[in-house]
Amino acid sequence: MGDKDGDTRLKEFLVILSRRIGYRLSRLIDIAEYAGEAEVIEVKEGDGKIYGIRLRFKSETRDDVFHYALVGRYGAKCTCEANTLGNELCKHIVAGLIIMEAISLGKYGKDIDIDEMKWLESHGDAQRRGVQNPGTSSNISDGGPPH
Ligand SMILES: [Zn+2]
Repeated sequence: MGDKDGDTRLKEFLVILSRRIGYRLSRLIDIAEYAGEAEVIEVKEGDGKIYGIRLRFKSETRDDVFHYALVGRYGAKCTCEANTLGNELCKHIVAGLIIMEAISLGKYGKDIDIDEMKWLESHGDAQRRGVQNPGTSSNISDGGPPH
């Protein structure tokens, strides 16, 4: 039922997301595939839309380790090292956005509102700065963001 339409709309969402966060589309398509491995712990919804999701991912390097990601309107966090140490928009969070969009399309027939997610924009900026300044590993040393 409407699967093709849903795929097309999900693809369009990936294109928009790719511009927003500065990831290549091919990378987002890989992450969308990886999202299939996520275990959805909780979906937060109300007023006819999805506004948050909690996920669990098995670590790719260690069998006994799980990463927990929380994605919502006002922020996102994840327990993996890229997010906690590097303050990066890690692939678990991006996968969370893609899963939210897929659920929203399937259940409500509409896109999630990424304009509402202001935290995505700051991550997009960080991503662009990271491209301009390849010496990124050094900025972990001062113990975290200034604010
Ligand atoms: Zn993560």
